[in-house]
Amino acid sequence: ALQAGIVGLPNVGKSTLFNAVSNSAKAQASNYRFCTIEPNVGQVDVPDDRMKVLEELVQPQRTVPTTIEFVDIAGLVKGASQGEGLGNKFLANIREVDAIVHVIRCFEDENILREEGDINPIADKEIIDTELQLKDLDSVEKKIHRLEKMVKAGDPKVKSQLEVLARCKQHLFEGKNIRGMELEGEEKEATADIFLLTEKPVLYVANVDEAALLTGNKYSDALVKMAAEEGAQVIVMNNSIEAQITELDTIEDKEMFFSEYGLTEPGLNRLIRSAYKLLNLITYFTAGVLEVRAWTIHTGWKAPQAASVIHTDFEKGFIKAEVIAYKDYVQYKTEAACRENGKLRIEGKEYVVQDGDVMHFRFNV
Ligand code: GDP
Repeated sequence: ALQAGIVGLPNVGKSTLFNAVSNSAKAQASNYRFCTIEPNVGQVDVPDDRMKVLEELVQPQRTVPTTIEFVDIAGLVKGASQGEGLGNKFLANIREVDAIVHVIRCFEDENILREEGDINPIADKEIIDTELQLKDLDSVEKKIHRLEKMVKAGDPKVKSQLEVLARCKQHLFEGKNIRGMELEGEEKEATADIFLLTEKPVLYVANVDEAALLTGNKYSDALVKMAAEEGAQVIVMNNSIEAQITELDTIEDKEMFFSEYGLTEPGLNRLIRSAYKLLNLITYFTAGVLEVRAWTIHTGWKAPQAASVIHTDFEKGFIKAEVIAYKDYVQYKTEAACRENGKLRIEGKEYVVQDGDVMHFRFNV
């Protein structure tokens, strides 16, 4: 499953956020899914209003949303790349995630220590960035050494990769993240096998206090401005409130609680959806009387590959797919009515699945 890693300096509210994630994972796990997830991994449903609409139209026995996983990556401190704190182990954990959720402290509280003094979200962000950049510099240099030994063999690929890696090295030296280089096509091959930490997509959580929940504050404003320059997104939320929401038992209690703060939905929902987008994921649906179910695929996947997430055999034996666009399904209300109105398309191997498609696969076994 795809994973987003929660990182940040100590005392910024990471564990509080992860508690919210794992509370909601536990709440969901009780119904229909067997969850074997490690203590630092929480699997959460991706909130999607379209599921409710399809459920009402189809009246299935059950509804199964799609999920993503959050990993709590504690222990990242200044000097981690040099082995400070829990050091390298945690950097290794970051290497395994697909995206990074960087939690940044935007609340004042004199009882909660910030080692570097006054609250400063930009400085906090830079401390973490620097650690990750130093680690990447290490990985890049190692690969350069490896390739330099091969350059005599005269492989043009080695030469072009060396050129890209030299640019990466310079970029890191300047204190910048690799994701900002926007490597493309063949250039990406140079870094593909070294899993650079600063190449992973990132989004920021501005952990603000209650008073700033709806408006943000000067700290989150500074963060939003900085993130805009990077083309990154900031979710302004209060992690303590989120953890409290997920501790409540019923949906009614939850709604009452967050609406008292003027929220229309939990911040966690916004975070989950944004992480899903950040990972470049889209959803298609299967809709039958047994179940309405959401399936996760990457943007750009063709029908056979999309079918493989249901069952690997579906890809090999793929014949064709019956496809109804979500908005057509909602407009005509039943599969039969969609068919009558020419809204049920028969698509082949080359069809690129669109977000919201309601799919039915035909395949050979
Ligand atoms: P971590 O070290 O990043 O995992 O941080 P924690 O989640 O353990 O939070 C550190 C401390 O800050 C805890 O005492 C939390 O209760 C507190 N905390 C977390 N979020 C907020 C917040 O939004 N406002 C305030 N005042 N305290 C918070």
